[in-house]
Amino acid sequence: MFFLFACLGTVAALGALWMQAPTFDPVDRVGLPGLALMLLGLQLALLRRWLTVHTAVGIAYAFSTLYFLVALGHQFAAFAPRTHMLAESTYWFPVLYAAAFLLYSPRRAAWLAGGTYLLALLLCLYHLIAGPGAGNAQLAGATMQFLLVGAVMIVLEATFCVQRVHLLAARDAAYRDALTGLANRRAAEEHLAALARAGRRFTLVLFDLDHFKAVNDLHGHATGDLVLRGVAQAAQSVLPSGGVAARWGGEEFLLLLPAQPAWQVKAMLDTLRAHLRDQRHGAVTGVTACFGVATAHQGEHPDDVLARADAAMYTVKRQGRNDILLADVRRTHHAALFEPPVLK
Ligand code: GH3
Ligand code: MG
Ligand code: MG
Repeated sequence: MFFLFACLGTVAALGALWMQAPTFDPVDRVGLPGLALMLLGLQLALLRRWLTVHTAVGIAYAFSTLYFLVALGHQFAAFAPRTHMLAESTYWFPVLYAAAFLLYSPRRAAWLAGGTYLLALLLCLYHLIAGPGAGNAQLAGATMQFLLVGAVMIVLEATFCVQRVHLLAARDAAYRDALTGLANRRAAEEHLAALARAGRRFTLVLFDLDHFKAVNDLHGHATGDLVLRGVAQAAQSVLPSGGVAARWGGEEFLLLLPAQPAWQVKAMLDTLRAHLRDQRHGAVTGVTACFGVATAHQGEHPDDVLARADAAMYTVKRQGRNDILLADVRRTHHAALFEPPVLK
């Protein structure tokens, strides 16, 4: 995204300079090539990984703001009193305000846009009162329009920015499990659908805590909640990069992993089981679970992979709990004939 804006900015700066040929404004003669060079330099620094995008954006914003403020002050001294109007460079101030609210949090953006606006306001007032354009009613009218549009833009952008923050928070809440902080079932389902669309192979681990009702019954619901949070933390801590842990329902969790060989999944789940066993929540310790593992076959629908992981998990329940089972056989109408092998 930064590259697109930086390219547009470079073209706009060089275009504005080209349109002034053959007589160049003294500020633009230095400022516009300077802006273009700065944007090109930032792109190079990003490509070479000398800077983060965040820093590059901050530098681009600061230099652009400085240029437009200098250009604003300069035009009052140079030509605005003659033309009775402000130059085209002032059109870009609303873009600066909008960019601040697009890039930063509402509070930070308000400081940045408000600070820029205040500097522009002070410059305009100084020149209208004490500069060569003092008493020029037409120039004062044009300047008031410029300031009014700026103020309206800041209020509008701030409103949109706050609404966007609320929307993002609501979206995050809609996709996150409130108790554990993991992705919720909706998020996991969408993730599965995205994997199916991308045609990517993946491994699913579905696991269900053993005798969890007894934890609630013996130690209370609050302790049960603590156990669920601990399980979520443990699951997050063993995830490989690109993996997602979700609370599938009650005391059932789903791990969505990039396709993994069985030995790798087993090693990961052994670590997870050790974490669960060692965690202590009040008097509760030694938590165990049943794990069903299924890796997608080429072109297999995620629902079918999930069904295989689910069947494997319930097989472990039936076989006595606290184990891992790999479902590596395609389900057929005779699925009962293909009992998946136990991973040891
Ligand atoms: P099994 O080994 O067969 O899985 O037995 P289980 O007791 O784990 O399974 P069962 O389905 O009988 O009970 C699940 C329990 O999980 C019952 C329910 O109260 C509890 N549970 C579900 N969601 C929550 C929750 O958010 N907090 C707490 N504390 N308990 C929950
Ligand atoms: Mg259970
Ligand atoms: Mg259950």
